[in-house]
Amino acid sequence: MTLHVPTLVLMLVIGYGLLTLLLAVAGHGGLKRGELRQLGWAAQALCLGFLCFALRPWLPGWLSLLGGNLLLMVGLALFAAALSWHLLNRGLSNWFLGLLVAAAMSVPLVLDATTPLRVGVMSGAMAVLLLPSTVAALRHGWRGELSFRVVALMLLLACSALVARLVYAVWWAGAGPAAGGEAAFWSGAIFMLAFMAVLAAGFGFVLAGFERMASQMRKLASVDGLTGAFNHNTTVSLLAHTLERGRRENQPVSFVMLDLDHFKQVNDRHGHVVGDAVLRAVAACTRARLRGSDVLGRLGGEEFGLVLPATGLSGARHLAEQVRLAVEGLALEGDGGRPLRVTLSAGVAEAARSDTPETLIHLADKALYQAKQQGRNRVVVADDWMRNSTLQSVVG
Ligand code: GH3
Ligand code: MG
Ligand code: MG
Repeated sequence: MTLHVPTLVLMLVIGYGLLTLLLAVAGHGGLKRGELRQLGWAAQALCLGFLCFALRPWLPGWLSLLGGNLLLMVGLALFAAALSWHLLNRGLSNWFLGLLVAAAMSVPLVLDATTPLRVGVMSGAMAVLLLPSTVAALRHGWRGELSFRVVALMLLLACSALVARLVYAVWWAGAGPAAGGEAAFWSGAIFMLAFMAVLAAGFGFVLAGFERMASQMRKLASVDGLTGAFNHNTTVSLLAHTLERGRRENQPVSFVMLDLDHFKQVNDRHGHVVGDAVLRAVAACTRARLRGSDVLGRLGGEEFGLVLPATGLSGARHLAEQVRLAVEGLALEGDGGRPLRVTLSAGVAEAARSDTPETLIHLADKALYQAKQQGRNRVVVADDWMRNSTLQSVVG
C-alpha cells in the first residue's frame, strides 16, 4: 500500500468540514451546548488549516505554512477550551493561553529554517498544546460518558504521534539531505495520523455531548429539580419495586410520609424564595440520615415520602423521629436574616404482604393526619384500626 500525503490532507479537509457541518446541524436541532459550539469553531479552524496545506501548490509557500500551522494551533486551542468546559466546567487557564501565544510565535520564526527543524518545532509545539487536553481527558473523562473514552484514547494517540514526529525530525536533522523524500513522506504520514486521531476525538466528543444530554433528560424526568428528591411518579414506582422485592425476600418494608407544619405561614411571612430554601434544607437534612438503599421522594408541595427497604415498624419510627428532631434543630435564615425554625409531622406504616403502593401511602397518610390532629411536630405509627379503615375506604 502506498500513501499519498496530499490526498490525506484533502481527506482531513473533508473530515473536519463534515464535523463542522454535523455540529452546525446538531446545534440547529437543539443540541445547544456551549462546549459543542466551541468544538464547531475548532473543527472550522482545523478544516481551514488543512485547506491552507492543500492549496500549497497554488499559494506562496510561506503563506501556506504560516496560515496552515497557525490555524491548526488555534484549532487545537479551541478543542482544548471545549474539552475544559465539558470536563471541568471552566475555560482555558492563563498559562495555556501563554503557551498558545508562544507556540504561535514560533511559527514565523522557523519558516525559513531547514525542514527537519521546522517539522520538529511545529510537532513539539502542537504536542504541547494537546498535552493538557489529553491528560484531562484521561484523568476526568474516563469516569464520565462512555464515548469520552474514545476522545481520551484518540487524543493520546494524537499526542504520541506528534511526539514521535518530533523524535523522527531529530533523527532526520542528523541524517541530513540523504534522508530526502522518504523522510518527508514519513513525517507527513505521522502528522496526518495525529490529526485523524484528533478528528476521531472530535466525533467522540459529539457522541459524549449527546450522551450527557440524554442522561440529563433522564434525570429531569425522575428527579424533582428543587430538592433533588425523586419526583412523585418515580417514588411510587420505586415503592412498588421495593414491595415486590420485600415479598420475594421475606423482608419488611416501611413507608414514612413527612409533611412540614404550617408551611403556608413560612411562605406568607418570609416569601417563596425562603420557602424554597427551607424545602431544600429539609430534603438535604433528611437525606443525610438515610441509608444508601432508602429512597427520598417529594410527593407534592411540602410533602416527602421515605421508602425504607428491609425496615420494620420500630426502625422506621426511629428514623422518622431522628429526622423530626434534626429538622426541628435546623437553624434557618428567614426574610431579612431573621432566625427561622420549622417542624414536621410524620406518619409511619409497615407494609403487609398484600399492600400495594397506594394502600401503603394511604395508610401512612392516615397516621400523618393523626400527627397533625394531635398537635403537629410528632411521629405517629399506623395502627390496626387505621389499617382496617384504610382497607374499607380503598375497597369501598
Ligand atoms: P399543615 O401543618 O396542616 O401541613 O399546614 P401547611 O400550611 O403546611 O399546609 P398546606 O397544605 O395548607 O400548605 C402547604 C403550602 O406549601 C402551600 C404552598 O404555599 C406551599 N408550597 C407547596 N409547594 C411549594 C414550593 O415548591 N415552594 C414553596 N415555597 N412553597 C410551596
Ligand atoms: Mg404542611
Ligand atoms: Mg401538605
